[in-house]
Amino acid sequence: MWNIQLFKLNFDDLEREAAAQVVEGGWLTMGERILGFESTFSDYLGGDTKCVAVSNGTAALHMALLALDVEAEDEVIIPALTFVADANVVQMVGAKPVLADCRSLSDWNVSAESIKKCITSRTKAVIVVHYAGFPCDMPAIAELCREYGIHLIEDVAHAPGASVGGRNCGTWGDISCFSFFSNKNLSIGEGGMVATQDEGLHQRLGYLRSHGMTTLTLDRHKGRAITYDVAEPGLNYRMDEIRAAIGLVQLDKLPAGNARRAKLTARYRANLVNSPVTIPFDVMLPDSVSAYHILPVLLPEEVDRVKVIEALKQKGIQSSIHYPPFWSFSAYEGYFDPADTPVAAEICARELTLPLFPSLTIDEVDSVTSALLEALV
Ligand SMILES: *Cc1c(COP(=O)(O)O)cnc(C)c1O
Repeated sequence: MWNIQLFKLNFDDLEREAAAQVVEGGWLTMGERILGFESTFSDYLGGDTKCVAVSNGTAALHMALLALDVEAEDEVIIPALTFVADANVVQMVGAKPVLADCRSLSDWNVSAESIKKCITSRTKAVIVVHYAGFPCDMPAIAELCREYGIHLIEDVAHAPGASVGGRNCGTWGDISCFSFFSNKNLSIGEGGMVATQDEGLHQRLGYLRSHGMTTLTLDRHKGRAITYDVAEPGLNYRMDEIRAAIGLVQLDKLPAGNARRAKLTARYRANLVNSPVTIPFDVMLPDSVSAYHILPVLLPEEVDRVKVIEALKQKGIQSSIHYPPFWSFSAYEGYFDPADTPVAAEICARELTLPLFPSLTIDEVDSVTSALLEALV
């Protein structure tokens, strides 16, 4: 149906073989692959990071709030421009999501200033998102959170491999949450990772992932443990061995995939430079590296976005919107006033996401940008 899809998996025989080996090996849950994926991911992030593999990114966010004891009456500051999971998990623990605005029409991330405006005596935590893979100003945001005694959670779903100030995204927060959903830079289908540098939090995250149990099935299988204690109530947010095996292959491919995304993004920028369409993050933070997760553009104010999407579709080009605003969802009707976050409100109304994935070709980028410019006249 599509000539140029929004996203395509970066899979080949390596993923197939990795999955087949697990099936043949006969051990499906919490074995060597999970341990291997966790330790390789920890090394990849650097610092003293400890990782816990989980079933998906939303589970990772839920666990982060539980591990930091976010509860009823607390407020959690989240970006006004993000996926609904960030608001949902805050609601699910009974706390209140408060929206921080984007810095500007060219820097779509939250900033220390926009977060600071939302802080009250009830603020317990901040969730930042590195939108489209571009790092937030983490030195300033981490400093602000320290000053106010607020927990910092990084939602790194868009940004595995991104860094700022020589430090990887996912190592700045008290807890960081990755998603390996199909269309992310590291694709597993369903999967996620929780990272922390705090030994106590690492232990709690392990309990939250698996019923609060103090020993693993593998340890009992190998005769290293006979039974288990339950240290605290927990959930079952485990990842399985097949996913971890695929994750290890995908992690290996991530640096080259991100580099290819950077090249394609540069081509999009060059093609649209003197046009009425702008691409955000044209000026990046000093000493920062993006993961180039998606290719968002800002359409001219007067343009009918639905018509543009239809015109692209006529040429077999898939596009999308990141994101429809919270205030457009029935579940959040009356919760948020778009006037409180005017920059995000404007972006939500004018944003369009164009195809971006490692096997996209330069010729395809050229076709997308010509089709887009034609759709505007
Ligand atoms: C994908 C995504 C999530 C949710 O991750 P899942 O693995 O799909 O649960 C959360 N936040 C952001 C910003 C995302 O892009």
